[in-house]
Amino acid sequence: MDTVVAIRGVTKRYGPLVAVDGIDLGIRRGEIFGLLGPNGAGKTTLISMIAGLLRPTSGEISVLGHDVVREYRETRRAIGLVPQEINFDPFFNVEETLRMQAGYFGVRLAEERLVEILGALDLLSKRTTNSRALSGGMKRRLLIGKALVHDPAVLFLDEPTAGVDVELRRSLWSYVRRLRERGTTIVLTTHYLEEAEELADRIGVIDRGRLLVVEDKDALLSRHGAKVLRLSLARPIASLPAPLVAVGARLDAGGSVVTFEASTGDAFGPLLAAVADAGLAVGDVETRRTTLEDVFVRLVSRDRGEATA
Ligand code: ATP
Repeated sequence: MDTVVAIRGVTKRYGPLVAVDGIDLGIRRGEIFGLLGPNGAGKTTLISMIAGLLRPTSGEISVLGHDVVREYRETRRAIGLVPQEINFDPFFNVEETLRMQAGYFGVRLAEERLVEILGALDLLSKRTTNSRALSGGMKRRLLIGKALVHDPAVLFLDEPTAGVDVELRRSLWSYVRRLRERGTTIVLTTHYLEEAEELADRIGVIDRGRLLVVEDKDALLSRHGAKVLRLSLARPIASLPAPLVAVGARLDAGGSVVTFEASTGDAFGPLLAAVADAGLAVGDVETRRTTLEDVFVRLVSRDRGEATA
């Protein structure tokens, strides 16, 4: 397997705080890697180190075989970074912003490529609009455009569709897939787990600076059960009765929802019997297939030692 980004034993400390804690990870050529984690997990810190914007306290990172600290110029050129925060000069228009960014990398932005990027981001009609006069969602799209002008081998997308409307979110997803088909490796960070489920080939979950899991998305989903049963309780409870904990149920939504994940519908029988034995009054029942969000919540809450399966 062709590794594009190799992360070996990387730690980042801020005084006593260990923001990234001994991470080993390889990002493969041409994949969409979903890096997920709660607020403060260490995602931005890790990505900033890969992009050479932050130095690891220890460990090594290479991009296309080049060390990101010692060979910063080579690695920076291989990377496109879409940050969470808007970082362009409001005095330039859309086209000027992209041309300046290309100039920064010493690349001449051909008309054809400019039109392709603007078209994919639905910004063609805004080509000569001052970036100050763009809507929030358009500004985010321009950020993506900026990261693409030098045709990077690896694109880091941090919350790419935050504040973007539904229709455009779908068209951005299809553009991200097209980039992958052309060979671009994509690292996606998002709190919007439906987006990761839709796009990612592999998932890494990070919490408190440590990688909890790195796995093929489909394998991860099937390993964590195929179906979810959600029982809304008529009266919230303070803690889950032991027989329900024993069958693997979880208490959510402040004690008002019992959630149970199973690989087959057969497993629901013992659960329902335990609910009846415990005398819980059920107000509503819902079943659905397991989502990445279910898996994510389970992994993170387990890591934090909360009551889970
Ligand atoms: P979010 O989803 O909220 O963007 P994240 O996973 O990107 O979170 P990071 O921004 O990487 O999280 O932060 C990881 C930890 O490092 C947090 O506890 C944060 O407060 C801390 N941290 C980040 N930057 C600094 C800094 N410059 N100085 C001190 N602590 C920092």
